[in-house]
Amino acid sequence: MLSTSKINWKWDNSYTRVNELLFSKVKPTKSIQPKLLLFNKRLAEELNLSVENVDDFVSFLSGNELPEGTESIAQAYAGHQFGHFNVLGDGRAILVGEHITDTGKRFDIQLKGAGRTPYSRNGDGRATTSAMLREYFISEAMHGLGIPTTRSLAVVGTGDEVYREYVSEGAVLTRVAASHIRVGTFQFASKYLPKDELCAFCDYVIERHYPEVSKEGNAPLAFLRKVQDTQIDLIVNWMRVGFIHGVMNTDNMSIPGETIDYGPCAFMNAYNPATVFSSIDRNSRYAYGNQPSIAQWNIACLASALIPIIREDKDEAVKLCQEIINEFPAIYEQRWAKMMCSKLGILEEQEGDAALIKDLLHWMEANKVDYTNTFLQLLKAKNEHIGIYGLADFQSWFTRWEKRVSTYVWEEVCSLLNMFNSKFIPRNHLVEEALHQAANLSDYGLFHRLLGVLQAPYEEHKGNEEFQEPPRDGDGDYRTYCGT
Ligand code: AMP
Ligand code: MG
Repeated sequence: MLSTSKINWKWDNSYTRVNELLFSKVKPTKSIQPKLLLFNKRLAEELNLSVENVDDFVSFLSGNELPEGTESIAQAYAGHQFGHFNVLGDGRAILVGEHITDTGKRFDIQLKGAGRTPYSRNGDGRATTSAMLREYFISEAMHGLGIPTTRSLAVVGTGDEVYREYVSEGAVLTRVAASHIRVGTFQFASKYLPKDELCAFCDYVIERHYPEVSKEGNAPLAFLRKVQDTQIDLIVNWMRVGFIHGVMNTDNMSIPGETIDYGPCAFMNAYNPATVFSSIDRNSRYAYGNQPSIAQWNIACLASALIPIIREDKDEAVKLCQEIINEFPAIYEQRWAKMMCSKLGILEEQEGDAALIKDLLHWMEANKVDYTNTFLQLLKAKNEHIGIYGLADFQSWFTRWEKRVSTYVWEEVCSLLNMFNSKFIPRNHLVEEALHQAANLSDYGLFHRLLGVLQAPYEEHKGNEEFQEPPRDGDGDYRTYCGT
């Protein structure tokens, strides 16, 4: 076992004390030739880890040696995958333990791609380097955008071959999360645990993530409302930047409300609510515009799992849950409208703003115009609008908008515009190019340059304006894969 003192890990394993049906003890498979590919020094510092000698981390980050005080497990969960219920679990991820920072914050430290577990079924427990680099990249970019997300501490090449449609090198990603408890974890717990143990599990999760609801008369019901509330904020944020998760199965929805599982996710360029990139999402279930209603559907799954501990009388419990879930669309609409107003620099929503927003979105959709860059036009004077932005349709909308915000102090409008509209998003074609160069040519130049910009995407980056451009010929037939 590795000594913990050098790096300043402070381990606890509270999850192993909750209920033994919810996990299996398992050790990572050793990497034959560990090689550090990426290390997130900034995150390590945020976690109060000592980063003087990064090499000290490698034997841990590869899964070869676990630090003292850890008790590694794979978590059990279930989930509706594309609407169909399955019993699942960490098939290629191993939770090493929970690290507690100097301020007492608790983080799951998980090794993803670290070998088979009792939940692997037919999978090999491994991950490709490219998929792990992608998760590292997008999760850190999401963090830069100010959106709750799991984080990435490192990627280590294992030296093993991983067999997919092609042979690739394997890698382990160290994922850091408030926790890996999912809607699907409750689905599993509800299916297999007796009522009092489900109740104890729910108490544990409440204490860990939403301690403020523990004093409510009906804590599980208040918890449901809170999780819904947090998810609504998350989805509004996704919609703000054009993020498409791609696989919003209930096992990929985090209870603490972080974006989790960066498989086939991508960013929308031209505005179109029907946008889907994932090759396996054949019915467009997880299209950009469907994300709010899918989140509501997932919350309904959480509610079903909680029914036994909400009320003795099932019909009454269902009714109480239904009332909460029925509130989803109105709360979402209201927060979405407020966010869109902010994207337009409007301080307080007024009558007529909904039409202003709708008309802009319709114009973008009809003309296949870039979502992110359109909002950046608002910071430009009329005579600086070029291309499609100089044409009559956009100009007449822009005149309406100028009139609308003329009642405010311009500096305040600007500050809202800058706060809600990022200048950069991870453009799919650039991310793919950066990943290709890193994973296949071992050239991390573009990867680091692009990620550097995306860690501060609301700022200008002189000399890197090319990263703002959507692909010249649109998204074409761009497809993403689960990357398992
Ligand atoms: P995901 O789509 O990544 O959320 O994965 C869905 C389920 O498949 C989870 O239970 C994963 O742990 C499992 N899984 C994905 N890839 C693998 C793999 N290579 N080996 C074993 N299990 C896997
Ligand atoms: Mg998953």
